[in-house]
Amino acid sequence: MSELKQEHNLSVAVCPQCKQESRFRHLHDTAHGIEGTHMAGSERFECAFCGFTVTPAMASEFPGLRFTLDGSTPDTEKAG
Ligand SMILES: [Zn+2]
Repeated sequence: MSELKQEHNLSVAVCPQCKQESRFRHLHDTAHGIEGTHMAGSERFECAFCGFTVTPAMASEFPGLRFTLDGSTPDTEKAG
């Protein structure tokens, strides 16, 4: 019923290491390995060719990569 092996989370951006348009995998760690959770600060994109890692701190240089877990909440942290 659940489709865990999906490759839809690939974004295209210019890799500074490959010097070409590359596919980036959207990665993040789960809390204690629990499916569906997210370890804060672990979100990153990884170049499918060379493994170059883009962190949310570098997001402004990669407009094609959308950080939906860590990067989209600059100052407005929700208490809870
Ligand atoms: Zn690369």
